Amino acid sequence: MSKPLGYINPHTLVRSLDRFKLDSCKCLRGLKGFVAFFVICVALGLPPVQAADFVLIHAGELLAVPGQAPQLKQTIVVSNENIVEIRDGFVGVDALELSDDQTAEIIDLRGSFVLPGLMDAHIHLMWSGRDRPIKKKGGLAGQAPLSNEDLTLWTLRHARTALASGFTTVRELGAEPEVMFAVRDWINGGKFIGPRILAAGQPVTAAGGHGDNSVVDADPDSLGASGLCDGLESCRRAVRMQHKRGSDVIKMMSTGGWADHTGTEQLFFYDEMEATVNAAHQLGMTVATHAYAGDAIANAVRAGVDSVEHGLAVTDATLKEMKKKNIFLVPTLSIAQRKGDEITLYRDKYRAFERAMDIGTPIAFGTDVGGIPHRYAAREFSHMVKLGMSPEATIVSATINTASLFRLESEIGTIEPGKLADIIAVNGNPLEDIKTLEDVKFVMKSGRVAKQGGEIKGIFLE
Ligand SMILES: [Zn+2]
Repeated sequence: MSKPLGYINPHTLVRSLDRFKLDSCKCLRGLKGFVAFFVICVALGLPPVQAADFVLIHAGELLAVPGQAPQLKQTIVVSNENIVEIRDGFVGVDALELSDDQTAEIIDLRGSFVLPGLMDAHIHLMWSGRDRPIKKKGGLAGQAPLSNEDLTLWTLRHARTALASGFTTVRELGAEPEVMFAVRDWINGGKFIGPRILAAGQPVTAAGGHGDNSVVDADPDSLGASGLCDGLESCRRAVRMQHKRGSDVIKMMSTGGWADHTGTEQLFFYDEMEATVNAAHQLGMTVATHAYAGDAIANAVRAGVDSVEHGLAVTDATLKEMKKKNIFLVPTLSIAQRKGDEITLYRDKYRAFERAMDIGTPIAFGTDVGGIPHRYAAREFSHMVKLGMSPEATIVSATINTASLFRLESEIGTIEPGKLADIIAVNGNPLEDIKTLEDVKFVMKSGRVAKQGGEIKGIFLE
């Protein structure tokens, strides 16, 4: 089974990025042979990229490595999609000693605070979110009975919102797979504007469990593809089918969920969880588990998942186990802000986020936007600070920790030479006022400017 062009899996990212370079015809700019460059671009049916060979970003204040102190007056040198070096002071084009055929441009962020692109480990790009609690049965949070054509366009629109909000990489945890993978491939292939996407597609769940949208009398042979599993072989098959379709990561529903009235308790048997996790790991995929009840989370952690989503009633013992095994808690505080909602009551009762901080369990930033409107994603930072996390730690959770969870720590998460140029800027210091992250003014992803002066580009990339 060959993957569609632009298919991206965390473990094949580098290969995919090479393909992206070919897509944009940037890869050959390092070579002096302009003729060869032009001929190959024409052969690919793509125009040569007109951007400068080097971009110098003058950063008034630079938080290159979250967790370390920011530096004043720095210059980030970007070439193609990578960060080449960081220099003290505001360096001019002359300092680069360019050859005659090389060009450079300066981006003036001298009045701004510059930091690595943010990441959201739990997002639903297909759904728009609702401002009111979901009372009706049927479908995931925010799901409306839309055609796949409509869903595709909504997904593109939400992806643009995510990037405009400063999120340069997101992990999509549950959507109509064919729509989601197509959008992912077009965005990761550099043809549409949006964040780098790692997508789960169809979640793996027990029949009748959270996210089971199949009809009762569905053909049993189709159940693997639908993500349903009952029994070990069935769970292995469900994982393999998602991989075959193009999943980057497996979303496993360890418990029911309020969004579709399937409750808070474990619905899998332990050995089904273990089979799911083992099948995913064997294929080089990580597993994110949706989980509320404490014993279900304990079992999922014992089975070896890579992150626990929501984790509402996780026990201290499990949080300690997660710390030991470097399993991330993705707290999704944003979805638990509506007064009177079950998830809010549960969250406030068990205070998993606060206990995880005390114990030192690794925390990766995740919002569950799509359950709520996408424009609210960056409010998660304020929710975290309000519950006692330092602004600095919230930024670490959305950069270094997410990069580690995504197994992309050598590519993204900090502004350092050799990494992808995922760079954002805000007015004001978020270490002093976390709310500055709710108004991102500049976004660069893979060396391409997506937002400047507060203005996001159109949906197509040239
Ligand atoms: Zn979710």
